[in-house]
Amino acid sequence: MSTNPPDLRPDLARARVAETPRKGQPTIGMVSLGCPKALVDSERILTRLRAEGYGISPAYDGADAVIVNTCGFLDSAKAESLEAIGEALNENGRVIVTGCLGAEPEYITGVHPRVLAVTGPHQYEQVLDAVHEAVPPSPDPFVDLLPGSGVKLTPRHYSYLKISEGCNHKCKFCIIPDMRGRLASRPAHAVLREAEKLVENGVRELLVISQDTSAYGVDIKHAEDRGHRAHITDLARDLGSLGAWVRLHYVYPYPHVRQLIPLMADGLVLPYLDIPFQHAHPDTLRRMARPAAAAKTLDEIAAWRDICPEITLRSTFIVGYPGETEAEFQTLLDWMDEARLDRVGCFKYENVDGARSNALPDHVPEEVKQDRWDRFMAKAQAISAEKLAAKVGSVQEVIIDDTDEDGIATCRTQADAPEIDGNLFIDEGTDELSVGDIVTVEVDEAGEYDLWGVPRAAKG
Ligand code: SF4
Repeated sequence: MSTNPPDLRPDLARARVAETPRKGQPTIGMVSLGCPKALVDSERILTRLRAEGYGISPAYDGADAVIVNTCGFLDSAKAESLEAIGEALNENGRVIVTGCLGAEPEYITGVHPRVLAVTGPHQYEQVLDAVHEAVPPSPDPFVDLLPGSGVKLTPRHYSYLKISEGCNHKCKFCIIPDMRGRLASRPAHAVLREAEKLVENGVRELLVISQDTSAYGVDIKHAEDRGHRAHITDLARDLGSLGAWVRLHYVYPYPHVRQLIPLMADGLVLPYLDIPFQHAHPDTLRRMARPAAAAKTLDEIAAWRDICPEITLRSTFIVGYPGETEAEFQTLLDWMDEARLDRVGCFKYENVDGARSNALPDHVPEEVKQDRWDRFMAKAQAISAEKLAAKVGSVQEVIIDDTDEDGIATCRTQADAPEIDGNLFIDEGTDELSVGDIVTVEVDEAGEYDLWGVPRAAKG
């Protein structure tokens, strides 16, 4: 399969993981031609597809469809692009074309009428639409990094940035280590180069994702390469110097996470931590075989808040895990009362093909899972509402995600990650506001999950 050389493909940088697709996992191939700008789009498409649960195939025959990112700069490049499309059609048959040559769709369809879709340069949202249509996603909340919306696409002003693949842990409900292998971190300079290009192309918020963000670099012994050390603290500091919002997802509460908090207090990275605690009872956590199962998480949370009082904590939990007793569940509720997390997601446990937890004794009946989920969410919602009410009257920086014809701007504060957290809405004085602007607002109303506010001065 033709691609840019590996040193031009930070998404594929060095440590390649042999991806074994899970049963039924949709899989996409990518042929990337052209300049570094086209490469940014390829990277973003691949990052997004991986995070949505697609497998990426290095060969034509393992892919359900192939994206060809074309170049149309010179005649020779056009010819090469047409040739690459022809090759992909012959070898695979299901081809989506994007990139510069896509600006001339008839030129492509005139030669290759069988292509499934043609989109133009930097239209990566439309490419993802075409992929979703050709090969529907098959979301799995226990495995995928993004919510299973499947159709909500990343706007241009924020982007996911994947820093590693795989995971060294063996949580019993999770099949990631079997599917994606052990932790394989990208070199820090490759991550940074991708981030720089994204920021140059207008991205104002970088969402750092991986299966285990705090473990970043462990597999490559935190090696320094071209002046950048592969350690999450160094990487966060480096990313923070690019001038975009930097949001950290999937951070496990290891002791060294404390070193990240001063970067938040100093405004280098957003005061936001997404930590998948999953449960609070030590026995449940042990049955899950969770990393940091024995950590005193309430003490850690208190320490983080001491250093950075405005920190927002988001987490996800599983209720109804095999063997979860009412007393264990009650411990989780009590823990929530103390931890008072800002944002919370919750899954009812379910078996996943191949997960070791399937074989555990004492599976919890569905109605008990539902009852616990309802009680847990009622508590989480009450805490969220109280915390948001306390923000009324405060001044917040927000990023604008959308403006509509009724003059309503949908924004997010620093405390809200896209697609999973709440919003702040501005419903007056939005004429001058554009998507991607970062503006200051005064909060004047709060609901259970969302805020409302009025703009002060545009910064964007
Ligand atoms: S830490 Fe556990 S849940 Fe997360 S990817 Fe690794 S094995 Fe899966």
